[in-house]
Amino acid sequence: MGFPDHFLESLNGAPGFDKAEFTEAHQSPQDIFSIRFNTRKFNPENFEHQHWLARVPWSTAGYYLAERPQFVFDPLWHAGAYYVQEPSGMFLEFALRHSVDTSEKLRVLDLCAAPGGKSTLLQSMLPESSVIVSNEVIKARASILRENIVKAGGHNVVVTNNDPQDFGRLDGFFDAIVVDAPCSGSGLFRKDPAAMIEWSPQAVNMCSLRQQRILNDVLPSLRTAGVLIYCTCSFSREENEEIVEWLLKNFDMDLIDLPVPQEWGIVESRPGYRFYPNRLKGEGFFLAALRLRGDKPQRVSRGRKQSIQTASRSEKEQLKAEWLKGSVSLYKFANRLFAFTPDADEELSEILNHFFVRHAGVVIGEFAGKELVPDHNLAMSGLTRDELPSILLKKQEALQYLRKEEVKIDTAFKGWSLVVFNDVPLGWIKILSNRINNYYPKEWRILKQ
Ligand code: SAM
Repeated sequence: MGFPDHFLESLNGAPGFDKAEFTEAHQSPQDIFSIRFNTRKFNPENFEHQHWLARVPWSTAGYYLAERPQFVFDPLWHAGAYYVQEPSGMFLEFALRHSVDTSEKLRVLDLCAAPGGKSTLLQSMLPESSVIVSNEVIKARASILRENIVKAGGHNVVVTNNDPQDFGRLDGFFDAIVVDAPCSGSGLFRKDPAAMIEWSPQAVNMCSLRQQRILNDVLPSLRTAGVLIYCTCSFSREENEEIVEWLLKNFDMDLIDLPVPQEWGIVESRPGYRFYPNRLKGEGFFLAALRLRGDKPQRVSRGRKQSIQTASRSEKEQLKAEWLKGSVSLYKFANRLFAFTPDADEELSEILNHFFVRHAGVVIGEFAGKELVPDHNLAMSGLTRDELPSILLKKQEALQYLRKEEVKIDTAFKGWSLVVFNDVPLGWIKILSNRINNYYPKEWRILKQ
């Protein structure tokens, strides 16, 4: 593997950089496959390839796989039972657990969120009472973000499609902000050698200026004593330690020390933590955690509130009696009903007021007369009553369903039913007297044969 001109020289003096070992790790890269289970939906003990699994040390639900399965032909992947995530990025969990009280209700912003690796991690580790804003500035990428959020199934996530600048309007609102910044991408050279073509010292400088701009724009929305997690997949000091030094100089912030065991191979670079592929099983990554000084209380809402229409009493009663379990607030937008985590009216109203919202909570469906037409999001959510009809599918049938083909099922039952694979719902079918309608979303169906 030939590195871009000036790349290796630019890393001389970077904390923990060993040129010979680093070059070797790039010349004969070890294949690393890893997934993070969504433990709200699926117990890793039920994973069929148990003997493939080895834990990622800094993650509670992340595992290395001994082989790469064809994820596209695994129904559990489509159902959000796990997320294919690079191991180093899973370190966000460890950083958050050691910088905020993750047992409390939190307002968390994931500013640069697509395709959703960090947001789905946040959603699986934070209490369901928390409110997570998962934002992506690029419209097309916000769609894949929405898909991954829906599949993960949380009812406390809002997907927005805004510029970082817009978050200045939510002065002091968030308890924690994650900025997984767009960067020069050198940490992923092994996985994506094409990224080398784009790399240059000028690109690093451009990224560094953009990172400062993004942080400057978003920081007003962090409350005092709130936590900023800044990370990149770059090895360059200009995008890592130098950005953190700039933050410490220009904002009233303190660095948070994380108790990282030495045997993990993570380099403490002060300020921050570095991941090198020659020192651990993961790609290049950098993370720093900082706390804003002061003790001003979290801001309560200001300005005009967007009134949110709640579901009618009869709709609520019918939904709770026939479809839903657990405690959620029920709202209605343009005839569609949706559920959100309870006691979060204020947050929801603020977010709807200020942002371009692509998705919020769980879309339950729409009433057509007295009958609910359930949305796919409801099947993904874990909010469905245990008593609802459900039909277990074998793997081949599950794949037919996910291809949106006709599924043949021998049953006397008529009406809406979940279809389930390995205890995890895949979606809805409607069984009629002469056929079965497959309600899997067309745009997400498996196309590969
Ligand atoms: N956090 C994501 C995950 O774990 O799946 C990966 C995020 S990726 C490193 C950076 C994201 O920042 C991309 O989705 C990109 O579209 C977005 N981005 C690009 N330019 C941006 C800007 N000027 N402001 C905010 N985000 C930007």
